[in-house]
Amino acid sequence: MSITIEQCESVLPQTQCRQCSYDGCRPYAAALVSGQESLINRCRPGGQDVVDALAQLFELPSTQPLQEPLAECTVVVNVDDCIGCTLCIQACPVDAIVGAAKMQHQVLQEHCTGCQLCLPICPTACMSIEERTLPLPSPQDNKKQTEQRAAKKLLEKQERMRDHRASIAHLNDPNSVLNLCLKK
Ligand code: SF4
Ligand code: SF4
Ligand code: SF4
Repeated sequence: MSITIEQCESVLPQTQCRQCSYDGCRPYAAALVSGQESLINRCRPGGQDVVDALAQLFELPSTQPLQEPLAECTVVVNVDDCIGCTLCIQACPVDAIVGAAKMQHQVLQEHCTGCQLCLPICPTACMSIEERTLPLPSPQDNKKQTEQRAAKKLLEKQERMRDHRASIAHLNDPNSVLNLCLKK
């Protein structure tokens, strides 16, 4: 029986942290299924459980994870130093950060996987790693958050396109001042 990308992806923790050196869980799953990737032990957050599950799925001998699992942590923002640049929101793959331009940002620990992708992005270095007080989100939660992020990005893109169309609408208006001048 052939293994599908969906089957393989469902074994992965969905943190989208890229520590497997792929651009997310699905690309890693796709590479494994296509045979382009042979190592089943690249997923750091998944640890031994994911290696074992992948070994079972691909009927391969299990092995040790390539890297030590990450310590369970979360990221917090020192809001006094946050300048509201929104860069961390764009970097977070699971939509765990809330805030708006020029406003203080906060990390929602219940959604934060501790992947630390946001840390090097912050221009004021006001984000730091802390011990968790809540359990890590489940792969299902991570998937839901990733989909939510993708939907938000699509909406933002559509809004930008609508604004752009509105800003150039006068070019098609035969009575606009610009077009009347050009006719002269
Ligand atoms: S959770 Fe695992 S498979 Fe997914 S991106 Fe991170 S390292 Fe790769
Ligand atoms: S807030 Fe930072 S550490 Fe937490 S999931 Fe988002 S990018 Fe990863
Ligand atoms: S990257 Fe840093 S300064 Fe910018 S919004 Fe996030 S926490 Fe604030």
